[in-house]
Amino acid sequence: MTTELFDAIVVGSGQAGPAIAARCSKEGLRSAVIERGHFGGTYVNVGCVPTMWRLQVSSC
Ligand SMILES: Cc1cc2nc3c(=O)[nH]c(=O)nc-3n(C[C@H](O)[C@H](O)[C@H](O)COP(=O)(O)OP(=O)(O)OC[C@H]3O[C@@H](n4cnc5c(N)ncnc54)[C@H](O)[C@@H]3O)c2cc1C
Repeated sequence: MTTELFDAIVVGSGQAGPAIAARCSKEGLRSAVIERGHFGGTYVNVGCVPTMWRLQVSSC
């Protein structure tokens, strides 16, 4: 088992999580994103992306 050290732990990989991790990186902080479900959160997995896709498919 390896041990890694982080300056910040970001909970959740939705729209907010990676944005916060990127901000940490810009500030020189090393961060880790932890996710309990599917990476990408609501927007990618159950929100806008699949909704738009269904709308497009249903209008064909
Ligand atoms: C049907 C639908 C359509 C939408 N359409 C749009 C749109 O067109 N445009 C738009 O701008 N927005 C849209 N939204 C809203 C958008 O999806 C949300 O505003 C956005 O996803 C919020 O991002 P977030 O990172 O705050 O939360 P989320 O995306 O919900 O991410 C939170 C993440 O944290 C994880 N998590 C929670 N607790 C823990 C824990 N204890 N440990 C580990 N992981 C944890 C969750 O599993 C999840 O992956 C839509 C939403 C829905 C439901």
